[in-house]
Amino acid sequence: MPFGAWLISGRAQYVRDYRATVRQCLRMLRGMARMRIVARNIERVMQRDRTEYSVEGACTHCGRCCIEHTCVFLDMSATGQSSCAVYGSRFFRYGLTCGEYPLNAEDLAIYKCPSLRATPLKSRVIAIVPVR
Ligand code: SF4
Ligand code: SF4
Repeated sequence: MPFGAWLISGRAQYVRDYRATVRQCLRMLRGMARMRIVARNIERVMQRDRTEYSVEGACTHCGRCCIEHTCVFLDMSATGQSSCAVYGSRFFRYGLTCGEYPLNAEDLAIYKCPSLRATPLKSRVIAIVPVR
């Protein structure tokens, strides 16, 4: 895990602080299980109701949506502002769902986001036709 984090972020500190990185990765995996991240993404792909949302407000960088502060790539400044060690990278764009967050009101509710709100725009129901 520390080598993976190093390769993805380019930060050698993940390998230097090997044990701390392993502990943080385990906290992150527990957080992912608690927040049902994989299951919710599968449900999102499978669901028929694709309501689109308008998201308003300004992120205050509290870090809650980074798996409740457990993501191994999360940095918190001395003043409590979150930043992401892989923000804007190819991994961030294509390997994670972070770049899409928040997609809907449920995302904001799950992380108890204090700053943004999502309003449904329109409902788009995808018809699934059984293959014969
Ligand atoms: S929970 Fe909301 S305010 Fe906090 S970092 Fe995430 S988007 Fe920003
Ligand atoms: S935005 Fe960065 S720090 Fe936050 S969950 Fe995604 S990868 Fe982790």
